[in-house]
Amino acid sequence: MSKFLNNKLFRYLSFFLFLNSTILPIKSSSSLAAWVLNTNGVLELRTKSNSNLKAYFQKGNKIYGDRFWVDFSGELKNPRRIKGNGPIKEIRLGKPNKGKTRLVIEFKEEIYSNPLTWRMVGLDQNRWRIKLFSPKYSFKKIGEGTVEKKISRIKANQNSSYMKNRFHDSLKLPSIKQNKFLVVIDPGHGGLDPGAIGIGGIRETDVVLEVSKIVKKLLSEKGVKVKLTRNNEVDLDLSPRVYFANNKNADIFVSIHANASRGKRRDINGLETFYFRGWRGRLLAKRIQKEILRVSPGSPDRGVKQGRFYVIKNTRMPAVLVEIGFLTGRLDARRLEKSAHRKRIAYAIAKGILEYLSKVG
Ligand SMILES: [Zn+2]
Repeated sequence: MSKFLNNKLFRYLSFFLFLNSTILPIKSSSSLAAWVLNTNGVLELRTKSNSNLKAYFQKGNKIYGDRFWVDFSGELKNPRRIKGNGPIKEIRLGKPNKGKTRLVIEFKEEIYSNPLTWRMVGLDQNRWRIKLFSPKYSFKKIGEGTVEKKISRIKANQNSSYMKNRFHDSLKLPSIKQNKFLVVIDPGHGGLDPGAIGIGGIRETDVVLEVSKIVKKLLSEKGVKVKLTRNNEVDLDLSPRVYFANNKNADIFVSIHANASRGKRRDINGLETFYFRGWRGRLLAKRIQKEILRVSPGSPDRGVKQGRFYVIKNTRMPAVLVEIGFLTGRLDARRLEKSAHRKRIAYAIAKGILEYLSKVG
C-alpha cells in the first residue's frame, strides 16, 4: 500500500540517511529527541547522533489524507496523537514495530501535497529539515521538545567548549596520509589483573579494552595501521607491551586506563594524560587530553603531566598514558558504564591521535 517517495526524492533522502547510519546503532530509547512543524511549513527534527531515519510518503485516498512519515531507530515510550491545524489533520507518534519510532504527519483530505519538491536536508549530525507545505493561511506551530542547539550550562569543566548536541561535529576526524603510520594501542591490565574496580563493580580492564578496540577501528578507517597489545582478557605483563611497540617500530604508543581514587571517593572525578619525555609525547598528550575533556563535561581537567609509568618510560616512540575517568567517581563511573560514552571517548582519543599525526607525522 504505502509507496516510497518518488524515486529521486527517496534517493536524496537515503543519501543523508546512509551517511549517518554507519556508526553507533541506537539500541534502546527512541532516537527522535525533538520535532517541530513551524509556521512556515518546515518540519525540523532533532535526533541522536548517527541516527538511522527513513522517510515515506503516501498519497491520500477517500479515507485518509496524504501522509508523510519518518521512521527512527529506538523504541518510543508513549505513543500519542497531537491535533493539527491549518492543512494538518493530526500528528501521531507511534511504534510501528518493536524497537522503532514513527512520526506521522497526516494532511487534511482536501490538501494536495507535492512531494516532488520536498528535500530533506541534514543540518548537522543531529538536525534535519524538510519543507512540507507553504501555508495559505496562518498555521500554528506544533512540536515537542527543543530542536535548536543549546549550550549546556556546565561549570566544573570551564574550558570545555562542549555543546550537548554537537560533540560529533567537534569530533569529525581529520584525514592523514594513508598507510603511513603504525599506532600501538595498549589497553591497560587484563585477565587476572582487572585494574581498578569502581562503583557497582565496573572493571577497568573491560572498559579500556572496549574503548581501545573502537579507537583501533576508527583509526583503521582513516588508513592508520593499528596494533593492540592485547585483544582479549589476558594478563599481560608490562615489559611485553613495551617490547611489542619497540619491536614493531610503532610511530606512537597510547596506553589507555581508567582511574580509581584512594578510599574510593565518589566525589573524585577527572581526566588526565601522562607522557614521559619529549615535546612529541607532550604534544600527543595535549591533543588527546583536549579531546577527551570535550566529551566529558563537568569532569575536572587534571591536566597533562609528566609521569614515570613503565610503559611510557621504556617505549622508544612518543608515548602517552591516558586516564579516561575515575571508575570510583560518581560522575565518571556513571558515564563510563555506558557504551555510548565509551564510543565518545574512543572518538576523542582517535581524534587527538590523528591531529597529532597530521601535524607531526
Ligand atoms: Zn590502570
